[in-house]
Amino acid sequence: MKIIVAKNSGFCFGVRRAIDLAKNFSKNIGNIYTIGPIIHNPQVVDKLEKSGIKVIKRLSDVKNGHIVIRAHGIPKKVLNDIKKKGMKVLDATCPYVTRSKKYIEELAKEGYKVVIIGNPNHPEIKYIASYAPKDKVILISLGDIKRKIKFSKKIGIITQTTQSPENFINIVSKLLSYSNEFKIFNTICPDAINRQNEAVNLSKKSDVMIIIGGKNSANTKRLTAISKKIQPKTYHIETSGEIKDKWLKGAKITGIVAGASTPDWIITDVVDRIKGQKTN
Ligand code: SF4
Repeated sequence: MKIIVAKNSGFCFGVRRAIDLAKNFSKNIGNIYTIGPIIHNPQVVDKLEKSGIKVIKRLSDVKNGHIVIRAHGIPKKVLNDIKKKGMKVLDATCPYVTRSKKYIEELAKEGYKVVIIGNPNHPEIKYIASYAPKDKVILISLGDIKRKIKFSKKIGIITQTTQSPENFINIVSKLLSYSNEFKIFNTICPDAINRQNEAVNLSKKSDVMIIIGGKNSANTKRLTAISKKIQPKTYHIETSGEIKDKWLKGAKITGIVAGASTPDWIITDVVDRIKGQKTN
């Protein structure tokens, strides 16, 4: 069996940066905390816990210490609360996510109703939405437009960094009848677009697709959905232990795509597991 691993696999720039910053910080000052996982990969987060980078659910879980802001950012109020507590903060928010935050501030300042396309429960969306007054922000996904959007004088649009360009264009085109004036920022991350394109190409030529990444990772879930549309035999796993022999039976080409938070060692482990597999 031939195994093809997408070129753009392993950590993206934002994830690698967040982990490196947190590791250096912890080397210099000891135990540090992240509010929520620093990235969406449970295996990496477990390893980091052992080196002193601990995850807390909420700020009130600790009285003092140091906080690293995770790659998806944290809401403005939480940041202010950390500062009030006098805790040292290191911002490891991905620069692409910070860019979305700057756009939202700009749109709110210029009087636009800000429409954010994305999952309202995702930390990235909670972070960027917190930088505009609540009554100026509308969070939507495709099915919400008629229910949530009213005609406004000025509409500003941004999207979650892991959105697919196809969805973005589709939603934006539907929003066009709700205002006469628009300011639209395409805030989809270039790395996410590359991975999505690779998932499309690889799933066209593979008999089985294995998508590796956290079950809580938006970009991995997106890659799985994209691949599944083309190759129904697409499986989303976090580790090699989840691979079932029957998935690979008769497959001549297995394609592997990994989400932006998936470390190289997990990808290697998956490749080794598949190589050692009897497929007939
Ligand atoms: S996928 Fe893009 S936006 Fe998300 S952390 Fe990586 S580089 Fe940043």
